Amino acid sequence: MHRDAGSTADIVERDRKHFIHPYQVFDTYLVDDVLPIERGAGARLVDSEGRSYIDAVGGMWCTNIGLGRDEMANAIAEQVRQLAYSNPFTDMTNLPAGLLCEKLASLAPGDLNHVFLSSGGSTAVDVAYRMIQFYQFARGTPEKRHVISRVDAYHGTTYAAVSIGGKPGDRVPGFNYIDDTIHHLSSPNFYRYGDGRTEQEFADDLVAEFQAKVAELGADRVGAFFAEPIMGSGGVIMPPADYLQRLWQICCANDIVYVSDEVVTGFGRLGEWFASESVFGITPDIITSAKGLTSGYLPLGATIVSDKIYDVIAEPGHDRYFAVGYTYSGHPVSCAAALKNIEIIEREGLLDHVRQIGPYFQQQLRTLTDLPMVGEVRGSHLMACVVFVEDKQTKRNYPEELDVGKLVANACEPRGLIVRPMVHLNVMSPPLVIDRDEVDHIVATLRDAIVEVRAALGSAG
Ligand code: PLP
Repeated sequence: MHRDAGSTADIVERDRKHFIHPYQVFDTYLVDDVLPIERGAGARLVDSEGRSYIDAVGGMWCTNIGLGRDEMANAIAEQVRQLAYSNPFTDMTNLPAGLLCEKLASLAPGDLNHVFLSSGGSTAVDVAYRMIQFYQFARGTPEKRHVISRVDAYHGTTYAAVSIGGKPGDRVPGFNYIDDTIHHLSSPNFYRYGDGRTEQEFADDLVAEFQAKVAELGADRVGAFFAEPIMGSGGVIMPPADYLQRLWQICCANDIVYVSDEVVTGFGRLGEWFASESVFGITPDIITSAKGLTSGYLPLGATIVSDKIYDVIAEPGHDRYFAVGYTYSGHPVSCAAALKNIEIIEREGLLDHVRQIGPYFQQQLRTLTDLPMVGEVRGSHLMACVVFVEDKQTKRNYPEELDVGKLVANACEPRGLIVRPMVHLNVMSPPLVIDRDEVDHIVATLRDAIVEVRAALGSAG
């Protein structure tokens, strides 16, 4: 523990007084204690009381190579000693930034050869949004300002990113959103909204909705479409059938920039560096990345852009400049961490490991569907979600205020397992290094926790 941190009670109290958490629920925070984590190794976390947990959430979809690696600590320390910071603006650079951008260009599909670095996923999305505006302006089609996204999408919480996002829970009264030029299509959640259609019919309807929206706005006014290959924070929503590929084809046919937000799906979570082309057969114009890019060791975001876009904005003779930049664009220490992270993924064959362990994880989790309150288990490789329902037949949800996902997560905690509750769901994205014993432990623990919660709910009413 940090020598000044004090007891667990001190940590909790100090936090309550001074630390405004992401997505803090103020009322809950007054009565619920936070869980102070003191250290971690691999997929394990240890709290300030010395209790150990398997972190099935992988931090926040991000601790891909696992925690506590000396090699990462050494690479970071070495870079700090050599050069902790230098100005990345206009006519200066540092060595790790250039090496990383070259490496990302080689890992990304198609002609995505140009990289803008920022500090996380939200900023990577924000940069994509602004890059597209600039691109449409530069090529003489500034009226292509409209952006299409989807309900249940999550793209971060900067102003543009949250406006592109479509999670109903993120539309909180009191905030403003860009709503005159950003449009949301239906969620592709087949389990929840399939309504008796086959998956193919559901996909057909979603594709028709996209076509109708482009026709309504006019293809000459639609500049971009943003999509996660698998929706993460919206509840690990798998794209139905050939839906993504068909949307991409419509984008190609209508000159609409396709942005694939791979902040979660990139860097091994689906057994590939990037999932867009390898898994879903689409070659986007822009990929956004963060999280697994450094495995959470340091903050970093990347917006990886095609030659097609870059060649337009960078065309000589226009006196143009890209008025987007952060002090920490291309931060040398973050870039050194990303380079070492990529080296470890390559050397240890972690993509191959995920291709082996991922299907086992999915298969074992699906055994939970015999439980009466488990409506569905979905996901791919190391992205997964367990859906809780009060009535399996009708798919009726538990009342939202019951927070059933949180009840199950709370029951997992004393059993040494961290899962992420999201209203009716438990979401998981363990580190790529997870092994079979850890998978078995996750599934067995979840089963016990769900049985306990179901029994408690039964006796309560
Ligand atoms: N895009 C996606 C798909 C994400 O899941 C997230 C975060 O969960 C973000 C963007 C935002 O990333 P960050 O929290 O690093 O800003």
